[in-house]
Amino acid sequence: MRKKFIAGNWKMNTSGIDGELLAAGVVNGVADETRVTVAVCPPFPFLARIAQVVKGTPVALGAQNCYPKANGAFTGEISPGMLIDVGCQYVIVGHSERRQIFKESDAFINQKIHAALGAGLRVILCIGETLDERQSNRTEAVLDAQLTGSLANVTAELLRNVVLAYEPVWAIGTGVNATPQQAQDAHAFVRKRVGQLCGAAAAQAIVIQYGGSVKPDNAATLLGQPDVDGALVGGASLKADDFLEIVRAGIQ
Ligand code: PEP
Repeated sequence: MRKKFIAGNWKMNTSGIDGELLAAGVVNGVADETRVTVAVCPPFPFLARIAQVVKGTPVALGAQNCYPKANGAFTGEISPGMLIDVGCQYVIVGHSERRQIFKESDAFINQKIHAALGAGLRVILCIGETLDERQSNRTEAVLDAQLTGSLANVTAELLRNVVLAYEPVWAIGTGVNATPQQAQDAHAFVRKRVGQLCGAAAAQAIVIQYGGSVKPDNAATLLGQPDVDGALVGGASLKADDFLEIVRAGIQ
């Protein structure tokens, strides 16, 4: 059985001290619970200090982005190796905000995935359709293109360190979550396509999180779907109590 994975994407929020307090709240609430995997993904400047808060606990540390080079003249960018150095185990790539605001392509996301995996990070790869794409019945075509492009040359072996996050763009930060059935349908499609790309065993093993307005009051039904293996949580990850309720909903 796949272990549920709940990750908090703090985006460009918190101060250093507020981030430390939030991480400490998560650490205290998670305590020694290991039936669910938990990660927090703070902004870059706070990673080092939050690494100290989560050190030696079951709570993992993730970054929200990386650049696909080891080092060099890339002003303002952060390499996967630097994230390892600072204590990260995970990195989010392909978030819809990066795709939309920063015009990141599947080819660029693919480079990031290879660089991150090569450096020893686990990747949370986000995919998802816009409202317009859903309304024009292009959801599966969009997910297909994002999966195929982002996972180019990612073997079944490499995929063991990849988590997928299905995040319908229309559900992110809107308060309108996908219905459990919409999430299940998309997850089942994604798992089927992973099977075609990397084999049946990889498809059965891969963790597929749902993201998009996950809150304490909808987490249990979303996480109760057979192909929903966790949640990538934005807004509700900024309050320890709310995030911990979602974590508890993930305990099987
Ligand atoms: C996200 O940005 O990954 C996200 C799912 O945000 P929210 O939970 O706020 O919709």
